[in-house]
Amino acid sequence: MPSPFIIFGTRAVKSTIKESSFHCLQCERETHFRHRKARKFFTFYFIPLIPLNSLGEYVECTTCKGTFVPRVLEYDPNASQNAFQSEYEKAIRHSMVLMMLADGHIDEEEMLVVQKIINKFGHSDMTLDELEVFVEQVSLQKEPISTYLARVAPALNAHGKEMIIKCALAVAAADGHIDESEQAMIAEMAVILEMSNSHLKGIYASMAEEKDTSFSEN
Ligand SMILES: [Zn+2]
Repeated sequence: MPSPFIIFGTRAVKSTIKESSFHCLQCERETHFRHRKARKFFTFYFIPLIPLNSLGEYVECTTCKGTFVPRVLEYDPNASQNAFQSEYEKAIRHSMVLMMLADGHIDEEEMLVVQKIINKFGHSDMTLDELEVFVEQVSLQKEPISTYLARVAPALNAHGKEMIIKCALAVAAADGHIDESEQAMIAEMAVILEMSNSHLKGIYASMAEEKDTSFSEN
């Protein structure tokens, strides 16, 4: 016959191992956390007496109450920012050079525009000689334009995407006209960047207006 009173049982007891600050992925900023451990206890009259198996550890953000695996404490937002920056630089370099190669020939004016763009977005400046070597590499490797661009696309906002398309247009227009192969490559970039057709058309229109001021410093 079952007893009318529950006198034995188990209960999860949580304890805090450590408290400090961390970068909460949900709050997207530096905030306070508690590193907690849950352990099952054997209870007698609801009083935890004997520690049983561990139920695991987790990290709880005291701001949003989100819980994460302990590894989240190793996450370094600066390191990931740097990683993104270098991916972004690779994407810019690669796509601008491919843009320059799209119409089958390279002229000096194009080289200067590409150099200017790469150095505007990059950490370390590239000389024209270094650019020449890089252009050689890119033309030999024949990697599609999506290679690096697709990796950064999800992290870019509308402005960031627009910036890349505008730079590509500046490269395409450097030799005086934008031909079909260049237009096709820009359309391909817009697809990789998940940009709508109307957005792309808007950029073309605004570039036509700015044409004489922005990138034509001879
Ligand atoms: Zn949080």
